[in-house]
Amino acid sequence: MGSISKIDFTTFYNTINNELTTTPTTRHSLNPATRKPNPPVPISTASDLNHAVTSARTAFKSWSKLSPSDRRAKVIAFGEAISLHAEEFADLLVQEQGKARFQATIEVNMSGTWCKQIPQLELNDEILQDTADQRVIQRFTPMGVVAGIVPWNFPLLLAVGKIAPAVYTGNCIIIKPSPFTPYCALKLGELAATIFPPGVVQVLSDDGNIGPLMTTHPGINKISFTGSTETGKRIMRNCAETLKSVTLELGGNDPAIVCEDVDIDEVVPQIATLSFLVSAQVCMMIKRLYIHESIYDKFLSAFINFTKTLKTGHGTEPDVFFGPVQNEMQYEKVKDLFTSIQTENLNPVLGGTITDSEGYFVTPTLIDNPPDDSRVVKEEAFGPILPLMKWSNEEEVIVRANDSESGLGASVWSKDVERAQRIGAQLESGSVWINSHFQVAPNIPFGGVKSSGIGREWGIEGLKSYTQSQMMWVKK
Ligand code: NAD
Repeated sequence: MGSISKIDFTTFYNTINNELTTTPTTRHSLNPATRKPNPPVPISTASDLNHAVTSARTAFKSWSKLSPSDRRAKVIAFGEAISLHAEEFADLLVQEQGKARFQATIEVNMSGTWCKQIPQLELNDEILQDTADQRVIQRFTPMGVVAGIVPWNFPLLLAVGKIAPAVYTGNCIIIKPSPFTPYCALKLGELAATIFPPGVVQVLSDDGNIGPLMTTHPGINKISFTGSTETGKRIMRNCAETLKSVTLELGGNDPAIVCEDVDIDEVVPQIATLSFLVSAQVCMMIKRLYIHESIYDKFLSAFINFTKTLKTGHGTEPDVFFGPVQNEMQYEKVKDLFTSIQTENLNPVLGGTITDSEGYFVTPTLIDNPPDDSRVVKEEAFGPILPLMKWSNEEEVIVRANDSESGLGASVWSKDVERAQRIGAQLESGSVWINSHFQVAPNIPFGGVKSSGIGREWGIEGLKSYTQSQMMWVKK
């Protein structure tokens, strides 16, 4: 661990075969709070990718043969190294992603925890049949080389959330961060180089060119992708060429159903927070809020009052809750969605307009009871604009909640937990939370249904997704 302290967080390199490399041309992203350039990063070439794949294939031969406990020790050491650099990672995360410092700290801490906890899971052989003359064993063997393609909202956690299960199960992984947020991931690569053998964990930054090359590369066995539904479809099409395994964690438009028996003062701060973390740029934030009509007015007024207390500003300021949205493209998308307030004659009861400023700041906006077919209800906003709607009939609100292409998360809020579970069981989503939202854990599988994804990450099911199962038939 001696070399770990030498890592500096101001210059950025690819990590290929445990060597820090750069490229003839570089690029940079912008700090979303100031639109000022962040430091240069490599634009990896096809030859960099080939080099990384060859190194990973070589490393796989010995890494896959290590015992799970040897690999466990390395992944845990990686988690400890992340925790040792928690302050630097949190600062860098604010600088590149824009999120409030306390939310960056949460992401960094979760990343350390994921590395320490995922390898506590045990993926054991399963005896499928055991008779007097024959035993059938199901084994879980690593796939080979995995490419992890990561979005810009949780650049650190979503990279770590792929690295830890992939390498623990015996694979080698190449991470490709989003061009908008490559910085923390590149530092993860450097840290990994101080812990893992060459070729086990590699990180390549790009300008958008490397992702498609990964999905068609014959030396890569699996793509683990987190990002938008549209890109997910493109990736799946490309992966068909070489029959790669894919896990797709895609967009969401999560509903939350609030029943009439909730304690409004207690749940409003929770529901507002779970609608607006990372300025609502989270796949599983609450994006459609259905409130029972008998408490609607009181709930809305409490919601407005609470949201007013959440400060917008640079993530570096200590009491900020809303940082900017992450990039120009997202800012323009959110601004376009704001135009529907006028074109669809919606009623904003807080915010409603965006004033141009030095960063990509968006005024938190609440829309009072918009029609179900309005854009703000139908589209994944990925910015702090939230529709609040009335409901009166349980069956009807379930139909409305399910009336979406997305199926990532959903929640039901009620003191009557049995009733809430009954409603929750009818919601079409990969996760359903009763009296919470957006809870995730390293030991619990996570993923979407419908257009929100294919496969699960984390938990034992997530570990299995990085393996192929082999049936061994043993005649006694
Ligand atoms: P995106 O799809 O634009 O990009 C994600 C990554 O894919 C980036 O690294 C990008 O460079 C790469 N990429 C783009 N085109 C590619 C291609 N053709 N082949 C291979 N790689 C390609 O997504 P984004 O804008 O970065 O992220 C926002 C979206 O991600 C939202 O829809 C959000 O809901 C979703 N998301 C989902 C989850 C989840 O776990 N389900 C988590 C976070 C974000």
